[in-house]
Amino acid sequence: MRIDIQPIVCGLYQENAYRVSAEGRTDCVLIDPGDDLARLRCALSGRTLAAILLTHGHFDHILAAKPLADETGAPVYIHPMDMDMLNDYAINGYDPEVCRLRPPEKLDARPLGEALDVAGLSFRVLHTPGHSRGSVCLYLEGEGVLFSGDTMFRAGYGRMDLHGGSELSMRRSLRALFDLPEGVKVFSGHGGPTTVGEERARYGL
Ligand SMILES: [Zn+2]
Repeated sequence: MRIDIQPIVCGLYQENAYRVSAEGRTDCVLIDPGDDLARLRCALSGRTLAAILLTHGHFDHILAAKPLADETGAPVYIHPMDMDMLNDYAINGYDPEVCRLRPPEKLDARPLGEALDVAGLSFRVLHTPGHSRGSVCLYLEGEGVLFSGDTMFRAGYGRMDLHGGSELSMRRSLRALFDLPEGVKVFSGHGGPTTVGEERARYGL
């Protein structure tokens, strides 16, 4: 199956949201809606939002989730271990100095399990702690596409010094991701796309 992936760069931290849809369908999912409601609304116009998927609970990846969920009725999903970060800006890192949107309050989310079928897309949910306890990568195995959040970047990986971060967990998570096929395209939470093979090669693996 072919899929349409539209990156939407949001906010001062230049976080990537992704609108993802199966080719020929008007329903879509939105991954990590950050701090730019106008741009996200524009990207969603003419489409039906079937679900909002969060790779982790940091403010820059969740800020538009509440207003978009309220407007569209779309359910929001996050790993259970990051659920507590959604409405607690002491641990989701919310910084009023750099944000346009207000921090979420009463944002309800459903727990991500190991797989999610939505809008004709079959996501495998890979639990990849290290950047936060409940960080996940969303894997469209059949399409060879991975949404890696702040776990894997092009030429890097996410910070491990924030709430719930762990260097040991990050190392394990990256190793698990390097076991994926090298041609898998990686769309991360910040910066441009890469592949599993390119990133693995940087470490001489
Ligand atoms: Zn983050």
